[in-house]
Amino acid sequence: MIRIDGSFGEGGGQILRTSLSLSLVTGQPFAIENIRAGRVKPGLLRQHLTAVLAAAEVGAGQADGAELGSQALTFTPGRVRAGEYHFAVGTAGSGTLVLQTVLPALLLADGPSRVIIEGGTHNQAAPPFEFLAKAFLPLVERMGPKVTVALERYGFYPAGGGRFTVSVEPCPALRPVHLEPRGDIVTRKVTAVLANLQRHIGRREVDTALSMLNWAPEAGEIVQTRESPGPGNVVMIEAGSAQGTEVFTAFGQLGVTAEKVAATAARETREYLVSRAVAGEHLTDQLLLPMALAGRGSFAALKISRHAQTNMEVIPRFLPVRFETAEEEGYVRVAVVAVGA
Ligand code: ATP
Repeated sequence: MIRIDGSFGEGGGQILRTSLSLSLVTGQPFAIENIRAGRVKPGLLRQHLTAVLAAAEVGAGQADGAELGSQALTFTPGRVRAGEYHFAVGTAGSGTLVLQTVLPALLLADGPSRVIIEGGTHNQAAPPFEFLAKAFLPLVERMGPKVTVALERYGFYPAGGGRFTVSVEPCPALRPVHLEPRGDIVTRKVTAVLANLQRHIGRREVDTALSMLNWAPEAGEIVQTRESPGPGNVVMIEAGSAQGTEVFTAFGQLGVTAEKVAATAARETREYLVSRAVAGEHLTDQLLLPMALAGRGSFAALKISRHAQTNMEVIPRFLPVRFETAEEEGYVRVAVVAVGA
């Protein structure tokens, strides 16, 4: 039984999700204590509980301690089954994080799967749907599987109610990839999404971001939607090169001007543009797991966050790999190495 201390490093939900993902893929049971001890409200929130239950369903597993607020869990996986799944968070909790929990198992399952996810699709401190679609999944697909996602309804905090579908064509094993330092930016896009809000907010956001980045007006887009139960506003900035695409995000908030929101995402984009990294902060911590499943791989990262450091410690508890990082000119080289290699 692998024992995980959920309070170490970042001390958040990712330690649990990484453990669930790798338990499913490797068939190893684990026991975790101090779940999300680093957070103000520790234990399983609705999003984490949904991820646990989703993992148990996909892997015919047993989860002891799967209750709201629980700070300890024992998970014993059975056999992973490809198929049709429907997971509903039930609150605005992030649905993309629920998908990421079960995705590794489905990527390597014995047949195709189709998953419907309901909950938050655009959450603070979680991957927004477009990040999944344009940044994370295209890199995963380079490892062999095919994953198609479609957004049906936006789900913003606090109303939630978003919905997206996922089709997975698995592959027998993930292929290692090596992502060289980034070349020229060839795609640029600034999108402001307004759910049940006025268009002028998006206009100001797009104009602010384009002007800060010195990008042409054609790169801007305003999406107004009523396909969302509540109001919501997000600005997403995409920058793509031959090596991959990144998506930087900021959320509209009451009391924060549209200009300030857009400036937050634009500053993060600028930091990326002056580097030679392929993966920004968030993509870096999320790429570690699929790369580790491939057994080896490497990429140019912008920085190593606490989330990334923590994942670099949790993953080797389940897989025979280690991570190496080296500061290079304009990026950090991250390599996954097979233990003993
Ligand atoms: P808690 O921190 O409350 O435990 P949690 O379970 O939602 O919450 P974390 O452990 O903090 O999650 O993990 C959040 C994940 O979301 C990380 O992989 C992080 O990189 C990712 N993430 C956060 N913000 C963004 C963003 N703007 N774009 C893409 N990914 C993001």
